[in-house]
Amino acid sequence: MSKDGHSGGCQCGRVRFHVNGPLGRASICHCRMCQKAFGSFFGPLVSAPNESFAWTRGEPAWFHSSNKVRRGFCNHCGTPLAYDWGGPALELAIGAFDDPEMVPPTIQVGLDHRMSWFSHLADLPTRPAAEQVKVDRFQAEIVSFQHPDKDT
Ligand SMILES: [Zn+2]
Repeated sequence: MSKDGHSGGCQCGRVRFHVNGPLGRASICHCRMCQKAFGSFFGPLVSAPNESFAWTRGEPAWFHSSNKVRRGFCNHCGTPLAYDWGGPALELAIGAFDDPEMVPPTIQVGLDHRMSWFSHLADLPTRPAAEQVKVDRFQAEIVSFQHPDKDT
């Protein structure tokens, strides 16, 4: 990863991208289309200027979710990757970046469909210690088939 660059890709690694420069606005969108496209409560997206963006391995498949927008995803592992409205920047799924911690959202949009309990998520209880020990044992035996979070 170059100094100002950001790389990312899908879970299986068949599709990779790189942004050679600063990213634009990072958002979470609560609209029903983003919920469905991400299979989640909201869609986390950051804009990447067309002139500094490239698919560096493979290409996503595209689903036209409307007459104005197409959504890119890996057609092998299903990872949502992009939102393309034909503008000067492509919107990329924040969770697909190798280091999403570097892309904190700065705005939320699409409030009409925001889950009523959205603001309580951070207050959810976590596992009791005794249960966590069992989970740790299970996790220790996992062999990941996920692409590593780096360009290879
Ligand atoms: Zn994939």
